[in-house]
Amino acid sequence: MTLEDLSREIILDHYQNPRNHGRLESPTLANRGHNPLCGDEIELSLSIADDSIRDIAFTGRGCSISQASASMMTETVKGHRLEQAEAVVQQFTRKMANREPPPTELSEELDALQGVKKYPARVKCALLPWTTLRETVDLYRQREPTPGDGEDVVDCADAP
Ligand code: ZN
Repeated sequence: MTLEDLSREIILDHYQNPRNHGRLESPTLANRGHNPLCGDEIELSLSIADDSIRDIAFTGRGCSISQASASMMTETVKGHRLEQAEAVVQQFTRKMANREPPPTELSEELDALQGVKKYPARVKCALLPWTTLRETVDLYRQREPTPGDGEDVVDCADAP
């Protein structure tokens, strides 16, 4: 099995058996992302407490790359502190943009998405869930000027 076959198999597995798929019942925050180039849509719901991502789920539609990437992303950041999650988003984004040598912290699974770089138009598909997560964390920070102080649950205007 070549590396390319392995990558394809990992992506296909996440696409067909997405992890953390669905919507959280009472998320702290929900947010949508859209990639107009390909028509991909991602909706994230996050449960955040003590500055950690306690739970995360996604729904969406679009190409296999975007949906598999969302599945991998949720698996990667679930349980992470917000700043850890932001750091992984940044590493992944940089790696997809080829701006720095592969950091060792990323998992083998996430490396499967590196093959997408051969198709520049698809890089945006792979990045969509990650940029959506970053925007969601930004939203959370804007709504929580004093993290850890008081309210855990924030109403979300974007929630369905
Ligand atoms: Zn796509």
